[in-house]
Amino acid sequence: MEMVKSFLLTGRELDESRHYELCMLVREFLPLAEIITDDTAPADLRLCWDGEAWHADTGNGYADREMSGEASALAALGGDPFKNELKRSLYRLLARLTGMHMPWGILTGVRPTKLAWQAMTAGYTAERLIDALVQEFYLEGSKARRMTEIACREQQLLADHLPTDVSIYAGIPFCPTRCAYCSFVSYDYHRLGDLMDRYVDTLIAEIRECGRMMQGRRFKSFYMGGGTPTTLSPDAMDRVLSAVEEAFGEMSETTVEAGRPDTITSEKLRVLKRHGIGRISVNPQTMNDATLVRIGRRHSVEDILRAFALARDAGFDNINMDLIMGLPGETSADAAHTLERIMVLAPESLTVHTLAVKRSSRIREQGFVSETGPEEIRQMLRLADEAADALGMKPYYMYRQKNMAGNFENTGYAVPGKECLYNIEIMEEKQSILAMGAGAVSKCYEPEKDRLTRVPNVKNVEEYLRRIDEMLERKRRRFV
Ligand code: SF4
Repeated sequence: MEMVKSFLLTGRELDESRHYELCMLVREFLPLAEIITDDTAPADLRLCWDGEAWHADTGNGYADREMSGEASALAALGGDPFKNELKRSLYRLLARLTGMHMPWGILTGVRPTKLAWQAMTAGYTAERLIDALVQEFYLEGSKARRMTEIACREQQLLADHLPTDVSIYAGIPFCPTRCAYCSFVSYDYHRLGDLMDRYVDTLIAEIRECGRMMQGRRFKSFYMGGGTPTTLSPDAMDRVLSAVEEAFGEMSETTVEAGRPDTITSEKLRVLKRHGIGRISVNPQTMNDATLVRIGRRHSVEDILRAFALARDAGFDNINMDLIMGLPGETSADAAHTLERIMVLAPESLTVHTLAVKRSSRIREQGFVSETGPEEIRQMLRLADEAADALGMKPYYMYRQKNMAGNFENTGYAVPGKECLYNIEIMEEKQSILAMGAGAVSKCYEPEKDRLTRVPNVKNVEEYLRRIDEMLERKRRRFV
């Protein structure tokens, strides 16, 4: 099959949502292909749905068609069984065209375990669900088993959560440097002058007002993320955490994503401990110095070891470490080296990501194309899985992203009892999350309608400072 650089996807009955998801499916097979939306423009591959079948035409002698069939039983659980049937027939056609199969079959969404929850709530046993995921959604057996295993574990872990509970998030959108793959809102804090102080004041005002607004609700977990929360000075960290305690009281689970090791100091760790923070992250991404330089982290492996030792000395017994498989220039031997070093540290949880090259990242702008093939990524993920198992961890949440190397997934592992339930809530969307700070997205869950509405804050810090009253009003309208 010649290189397909662009494709057009058209057809009757393809509304915006169906068109979008079908394009995402094509992208899994042809990650570098541009989506053409003007049907008079030239495209290397034309995919057309005529109401009964998909037609593929490369204009270079390749033409094929694939009929739609009956909507599968599992697909019927979703909101749009016809869309899933369109995806199934298009998948078969693309698999023939490229000779490839995708680990997650036709599942293109970010939260695959949500489907497993839905199926189990509808009475599917684990065995029947695994079988249906393989037969009807074309998942690899190992992915179907993993997804079902995680969904079962999530349901046990959230057994005592009430749908009316609320989780709290506070975002600190500052970092020491911008990582090459980053797509988050993050500002280089060295260049901000007094903006950071003004940000902290406004964040504290938002926290206080939200506490007043939400009086009477039960707050389960608190997560401070970013950015890098430990870019805050010890004093600013102390003020923010005091405001959270006053506004929302004691919560059973508290996490601060310390993140970048070059921002972690004993003094900041003491502040976190004093405020009863139970879980922190020290995120290496890799334990190879050459890669750290390549991805613009500007800290060393030595810094990671130092930060981890400081955290243990400060008494933290629940430390997460984030890793990324498929970083530029890395092979499975590099991943094996990283994992060996992590095994010696023995954190309580590991979050293993597969590199996702996002549109707003620097590596994407620089035209980075991964040279790591799917089999190499698969090997890296297998090694990570074995390392987590050797550390006594179990996989407990997972998600997928767009443009992931090899179309794999991100998995959170933890030693039993050390899981971060906030991470599950974010994925399963069965509880409200009240999120404060620039770029933070609140989610209002209405259990009686099983409906979730996003309430985003503006991303730009200066805009956030200027429009804080508007952000609060948005929350008031939705949550109160
Ligand atoms: S530490 Fe995280 S948020 Fe900050 S630049 Fe790197 S990836 Fe982005």
